[in-house]
Amino acid sequence: MVGRWWDKRSEILAGNLKPRPRVRTCAWCLRDEAHVDILISGPGVWICDSCVDLLAGIVAERRSRANPAPGR
Ligand SMILES: [Zn+2]
Repeated sequence: MVGRWWDKRSEILAGNLKPRPRVRTCAWCLRDEAHVDILISGPGVWICDSCVDLLAGIVAERRSRANPAPGR
């Protein structure tokens, strides 16, 4: 699903492509605002709702690993 965008990201990071200027893109998956539902701005960067969901899942998993099963 995100494979195509992920490949593009890798190419950009490898210096084979240059990100298009003046278009707001997610700093993680590099989809531009036309291809995401929500683009959330940070200091000079943006992140899309899909990546927030993905990262929130990773954070939740790591937190549960660091603090397994509270109670009991
Ligand atoms: Zn994204």
